[in-house]
Amino acid sequence: MIVNKRNTAIINHKRMVESIMGGFSYVESYFVGDILPDGKIVQRKPIIRVKHNYCGKEYNVRPDVLFNKNNIKKGYECPKCCGTYQNSIHYKNPEIANMIECDEKGQAVDTKLISPYGHDKYSFKCNQCDRISDKPKRLDIVVNFNYSCYACGDGISVPEKFVGKVLEQLGVIFKREKPFEWSEKIDEIKISQLGLGIDEKVIEKLTGTKKYDFYIEDYEGKRIIIEVHGRHHYEDNSLTGRTLEEEMSNDKIKKCIAITNGQINENEYIEIDCRKSDFNYMKDSIKKELKKILDEKILDNVDYVKAYTESQKSLKLLSWELYNNGKKSSEIARDLNMSQSRIVQYLHHGAELGKSNYDAKMDRNANRIIVKLVGKTCIKEFNSLNDLYKFLGIRMEVYRKYIGENNDVIDKDFIVKKVTKNNQHTKNLIEKLKQYDGFKVIRSD
Ligand SMILES: [Zn+2]
Ligand SMILES: [Zn+2]
Repeated sequence: MIVNKRNTAIINHKRMVESIMGGFSYVESYFVGDILPDGKIVQRKPIIRVKHNYCGKEYNVRPDVLFNKNNIKKGYECPKCCGTYQNSIHYKNPEIANMIECDEKGQAVDTKLISPYGHDKYSFKCNQCDRISDKPKRLDIVVNFNYSCYACGDGISVPEKFVGKVLEQLGVIFKREKPFEWSEKIDEIKISQLGLGIDEKVIEKLTGTKKYDFYIEDYEGKRIIIEVHGRHHYEDNSLTGRTLEEEMSNDKIKKCIAITNGQINENEYIEIDCRKSDFNYMKDSIKKELKKILDEKILDNVDYVKAYTESQKSLKLLSWELYNNGKKSSEIARDLNMSQSRIVQYLHHGAELGKSNYDAKMDRNANRIIVKLVGKTCIKEFNSLNDLYKFLGIRMEVYRKYIGENNDVIDKDFIVKKVTKNNQHTKNLIEKLKQYDGFKVIRSD
């Protein structure tokens, strides 16, 4: 190339590199026939070596790639980094960025240079138990679904924990993961009979027992089901093993059988959209849906920040802590609003990892309690609270609300005050408990 022509081209390249958005510096130009630093000879078209100012990396790029129409409008995207700090995982998801330990090759990672949506895999260090992930995980998946630790992961999604914490603050008594007699063994025939127009191939995959995220047996006389819908209820996702169509059909089936077979009132079947696990998004969704069953003023009094912070904690890890501090599995289950069998599972896993000093036999013995129903004239003894509930002919929730909350004293006046609806059901309850008015329940624990 003639020297003059070459110089003009270089000036052009420089000008173009400096004018393109994205913050690049010109390094050098190579023309047809030139030898590149790696020894290769430039063929057909010139090559410009540029440096991305943000990440500091240098690389070769063809002028037509750098200066196409799109790039002139939007700026060239650096292929070696996320472009800007505002695009980085360090900026967008600091909690997850802090957990990145190294890349797949074991190299340290600058989280200011990587995007939260990349498909590259990384090893993570759990911010709760400090354990390194057992295998590298795809970053975009961790960002979308939150990090789940093989050691302390409790199997409950953040949105679900968030809703649970809000309900706890509201003083609502609920059950998680609730199956019902009418939601058991849902087969293909039963699904077809619902007349939801679901494809046969999809139906095949959706048989079995349906469990509901939250069940509130009695809130001011209402029976309420709450379903928390995470991202995979709105977007195709190969991870859950179900397509979007299957997931949405499953939601329809659950709602339909709850209303028709379970006699749940349609407006007491609540579905909360938590497709983003971002604080404000979840908060707004929860408020919007719970408004249908609860007073708005009560909802405004919830400390959502506290609920969110608590929902980031692993319930498994919490159960280890509580156990190691001397609590029994039954007490932990009560504290965390979980089933005792789930807590025992957590504790077993903790013992395997050397994190909890769980001893099944000791725990069983500790949980054995003698319950006494003490009145002026008589004492009755039971081997467990369950036996007492049976004797009184009431459910645990009823016991908690009407007796437990009154320091385990059966007091007719207290019960009458607690009753919010004066129906046959509550009349029966008062009638049943009246004969033990003034009795106190004493537990040996
Ligand atoms: Zn870069
Ligand atoms: Zn962990």
